[in-house]
Amino acid sequence: MTRSSTRLPLAAWDHRYLWHPFTQMEEWEADTPLIIEKGKGSYLIDAQGRKYLDGTSSIWVNLHGHRHPHLDRALTRQLRQIAHSTFLGLTNPPAIRLARELIRLAPKGLRRVFYSDNGSTAVEVALKMAVQYWQQIQPTAGPKQSFAHLKMAYHGDTIGSVSVGNIELFHARFKPLLFPTHQVEPPYCYRCPLGRTYPSCDMACIDPLERLLETRHRELAGVIIEPLVQAAAGMMVAPPGYLARVRELCTRYNVLLIVDEVATGFGRTGKMFACQHEGVTPDLMAISKGLTGGYMPLAATLTTEAIYRAFLGRYDEWKTFFHGHSYTGNPLGCAVALANLEIFRREQTLAQVRKKSRLLARLLQPVAELPHVGDIRQCGFMVGIELVENRETKAPYPLERRIGHRVAQMCRVRGLLLRPLGNVIALVPPLSMRPRELTKMVAILHSAIRETTENLASAS
Ligand code: PMP
Repeated sequence: MTRSSTRLPLAAWDHRYLWHPFTQMEEWEADTPLIIEKGKGSYLIDAQGRKYLDGTSSIWVNLHGHRHPHLDRALTRQLRQIAHSTFLGLTNPPAIRLARELIRLAPKGLRRVFYSDNGSTAVEVALKMAVQYWQQIQPTAGPKQSFAHLKMAYHGDTIGSVSVGNIELFHARFKPLLFPTHQVEPPYCYRCPLGRTYPSCDMACIDPLERLLETRHRELAGVIIEPLVQAAAGMMVAPPGYLARVRELCTRYNVLLIVDEVATGFGRTGKMFACQHEGVTPDLMAISKGLTGGYMPLAATLTTEAIYRAFLGRYDEWKTFFHGHSYTGNPLGCAVALANLEIFRREQTLAQVRKKSRLLARLLQPVAELPHVGDIRQCGFMVGIELVENRETKAPYPLERRIGHRVAQMCRVRGLLLRPLGNVIALVPPLSMRPRELTKMVAILHSAIRETTENLASAS
């Protein structure tokens, strides 16, 4: 068979056999699927050889570009040793070395690494650890097993992580399965729920969390938060100091702080971890996505020695953490994650991101002038561009007009792949994206937003 004759059935087989995530399959089946065969640096290459800038870092995972030689080598080198052995009752060199390196890089005070294999599960592990921790350190006190979180939070798709999330579109269907939680308004400065303006507001939006902790701390196991940026909610960037105040409150009321660094971790915000911008050490930290630079599914939950020690005891004290997955501590994933972290040193990735973030901010200035751009929020290489029907009143586009989707479709035709978050265009390029590629990406986006919003205005 020739190459082109093998390609044709793939689209049909995709339609016939697959079910894609977060996808209306009726719409998918009516369209020709974009089949990505290769990648190189900041580009994805489809089955016809067309190149696209990867504006989402392949859903926020890729850091140093596709087919990075150092990562390719690390993976193949490990493959010559072994692909997988269980982590239950056994251990392996890449998993050990990676844990040591993660602890070196993590906020000071985090001392233990518990592996899993996706972001939702890393969050799930943190929730379970928190609940069991309180049971074990104060066995005679009343149950301390509920959680507080922000509205519009997204922490993953498993039942536990959905329970502490609150995006109507994704989560409403599953309410009957979810455990009850306490939710407070997030810091969403563009549409401040209190109608106030930062900094004169003195972050009044944190007061409900304080009141909640004051009244409910005896039953609260933890507060879970995406540090600095509520990503899936629309790249909502918290005002400086917000996270540090959450940390203070958790400490004051003896409630664990769980940070979900799944999206923000590994240099996305200009520091290795977002909580390091505010000198915050959480009690539990979930990481995944960038951990392997977009090569292998891997995740971890990091915690303090105090929490770890609460799980020690004789076997028949039943303090063991009974949780684990078949692919926990997978050597291929851990080996490539180690190489991924080495690149940060070799290529001065964090300094580069900080420098290129300033360039990105400058490039985005003309986008901010467009008549239907309501707000641009940026934290390092995480950008949210909120499109609005009316800039003066901030009236949102009705969701059924699918403005974000339309812009993304137009970008795709012009060689840029994006994944919108409702009316918010999310721009999350690989950290290695070159200045001229950033320029090209923003130019495509600018023209796509301008034309799509103009077309929509003239059609209505
Ligand atoms: N937490 C956050 C903050 C996320 O952005 C995501 C994924 N977008 C998750 C958790 C879930 O990660 P995964 O998709 O790997 O389960």
